[in-house]
Amino acid sequence: MSKEKIYVTQSFLPPREEFFSLVERIFDSGVLTNQGPLLQELEARLKEFLGVEHLHFLTNGTLALQLALQSLDMAEGEVITTPFSYVATTSSILWERCTPVFVDIETANFTIDAKKIEAAITPRTRAIMAVHVFGYACDVEAIERIAKKHNLKVIYDGAHAFGSKFHGRSLLDYGDVSTLSFHATKLFHTIEGGACVVRHKHVSDKLDLQKRFGHLGDDHFCLGFNAKASEFQAAMGLANFPHIAEVIEKRKKVSETYDAALGGALQRPAMQAGLEYNYAYYPVVFSSEQALLKAFAKLAEHGIHARRYFYPSLNRLPYVKGQSCPVSEDISHRVACLPLFPNLPAETAERIARLVLES
Ligand SMILES: *Cc1c(COP(=O)(O)O)cnc(C)c1O
Repeated sequence: MSKEKIYVTQSFLPPREEFFSLVERIFDSGVLTNQGPLLQELEARLKEFLGVEHLHFLTNGTLALQLALQSLDMAEGEVITTPFSYVATTSSILWERCTPVFVDIETANFTIDAKKIEAAITPRTRAIMAVHVFGYACDVEAIERIAKKHNLKVIYDGAHAFGSKFHGRSLLDYGDVSTLSFHATKLFHTIEGGACVVRHKHVSDKLDLQKRFGHLGDDHFCLGFNAKASEFQAAMGLANFPHIAEVIEKRKKVSETYDAALGGALQRPAMQAGLEYNYAYYPVVFSSEQALLKAFAKLAEHGIHARRYFYPSLNRLPYVKGQSCPVSEDISHRVACLPLFPNLPAETAERIARLVLES
C-alpha cells in the first residue's frame, strides 16, 4: 500500500522558470494590478483561444457570476437555475438579491432540463442561469429559444467548460454572459481567478465599470464593486496558457484508462452529438448512496480521495426555499468524481478503478 495520498485533483504547475520570467516582467514594470500589461495580454490570448469578442479577466469565478447578474439588471427578480452545481451558482443569485428558482436536471448529462424551464417562468422571472456541469453542454439551442420567447437573459456558469466546444464553437460563446473560474483546481487556472465572456458591447462596457467600483477617475457612473485580478494571477495564466492542449490531452488519456478499466460498470454522463469534450472531470454514478460510501471507504484505505461532486443538491441548502428536484436529489446522492489530473499515472487510474469495482 502506497503512503502517497491522491486527491480528486492536483493543480497543474508550469515549469517554474516560465512563471518566474513573467514575474520578472512585473518587477520590471512596477505594475501589480489595475488592468496591467500581463492582464491585457492574458485577456487577448483568452479571447483568441475562445473565439469571443468581449472578455474580462477577474478575481474569481464567484464574483464573475455576481457581475454577470449585476450587468444584466436583474432587479431582484427570479432566476431559473440548476440545483446540480457548486454552491457558488446559487449563492451568487442570493447575494445579488434575486430569488433562485430550481428546475430539475437531465438524467443523461446532469445539465438543467430545458423541457421543464417554461413551467417555472413567472412574471418575475428575469434570467436563466444554467451550468455546463463537468464540461458537458447544456441544451443551448432550446434555452436560447425559451429565453427569446419570454424575453429572458441567459447566463451560463461555464466554470467547467473551458476547452469544451459545441458544434465547433467554444461553449463560452453562448448566452448573454458566460462565466469562467480559473481556480487552482480547474482545468486552466490562474491560482485564483475567473472571467466573464459577454455577448453585447454595451453590457461588456457596463461590466467593465462595475468590476472596478463603477468609476473611471473622478467620474462615477454606476454602483460597482471590486473584482479586479492582479498581475500575479495573470502571470500564472500566461505561464499555463501554452500547456492547455497538453493538459486536455493527458486528461483524456486518464479518462480513457478509467473507461477501459471500469468497463461500463458504473453509469456515466452521455456526451451529446456535436460536443468536443474537455475532460474536466470524471464523474461516475453508483447504484446507491451505500455503494458510493463503500467505494469511498475502500479508496480511503488506500489513501485515495474521490469527491462527492455535487452534493447536496442545491435546492436542499438550508438557506433557500428550494423547489423539489427529484432527479438532481437522486443523482447527488450517488455521484462522485474520481481523481483526474494530467500526471495521474495510468497504473494508478487502473488501481482506482479496480478498488471501486471490488468495493
Ligand atoms: C469553481 C466553481 C465556481 C466558483 O469559482 P471560484 O473561482 O472558485 O470562485 C462556480 N461555479 C462552479 C460550477 C464551479 O465549479
